[in-house]
Amino acid sequence: MPLRVVQTADEVRAVIGSRRGLGPIGLVPTMGALHAGHARLIESARAECQTVVVSIFVNPLQFDRTDDLARYPRPFEADLSLCDRLGVDVVFAPAPAEMYPEPPDCTVHVARTAEHLCGAFRPGHFNGVATVVLKLFNIVQPEVAYFGQKDAQQLAIIRRMVADLNVPVRIASVETVREPDGLALSSRNQHLNPAERALAPALFRALTAAREAVASGATETDAVKRHAAEAIPADERLRLEYLEFVDPWTFQPVERVAGPVVAAGALWVGATRLIDNVLCTPPA
Ligand code: AMP
Repeated sequence: MPLRVVQTADEVRAVIGSRRGLGPIGLVPTMGALHAGHARLIESARAECQTVVVSIFVNPLQFDRTDDLARYPRPFEADLSLCDRLGVDVVFAPAPAEMYPEPPDCTVHVARTAEHLCGAFRPGHFNGVATVVLKLFNIVQPEVAYFGQKDAQQLAIIRRMVADLNVPVRIASVETVREPDGLALSSRNQHLNPAERALAPALFRALTAAREAVASGATETDAVKRHAAEAIPADERLRLEYLEFVDPWTFQPVERVAGPVVAAGALWVGATRLIDNVLCTPPA
């Protein structure tokens, strides 16, 4: 069907309603400023679902810094063209007042899975993410929802939320899409000036060093972290916020590797905060 762009929950329901019996409805939640990473999610949805809904909503509830919210890119027309090219059926782009007519009194609280990594440095962030994702699930009522492994802690939290709260949505995950030099695509990359852009792949290099150390049998994560951090050049524009090993499902810290672990990091490059992660597997 030709792309429909709707702003309200009632319109989404009306547009999707007639298609509900035809086959699975897939939802790709995004904050817009769409790039090839988002495109990969949309393509997966297009391949598996009868109806593909992309939501574009910069969710104020998940921003812990007002400057980050204010400068988040919003190239709406370009986003719509990409959705159109990829055969999206419905773009749901609500205004903040549609999602939050008044400050919400009931929200989703994420406990252990949000304790570490980004959860430790961005207070309230994952409660905001889980709350908006549950609202989107309730509005669109998809059979499947697509999330990127780039935001691995978010993915683990959404999986945990649907399990804990019996939400009838299958969560599909999609591999991280990277630039040729390894930098994970992110809407925030466009804030980087050319010099910062050249420094930004250091995070992926550090995570790759961690993955290689684990693959060759290293088990003490403290030692691997020190080794990996050496891949970050000493430059005043770079500040490693964290580099940690966590369990892939619980996102609790791992001190000694005894199975697959996620190495995750957050690196400030100038005024821009980048995150990335890789799965590390010890030798058989
Ligand atoms: P965002 O618009 O940043 O909230 O991201 C929307 C969805 O796209 C999330 O599920 C992200 O994990 C996913 N995503 C963002 N960047 C990438 C990437 N480089 N590769 C794969 N998925 C991504």
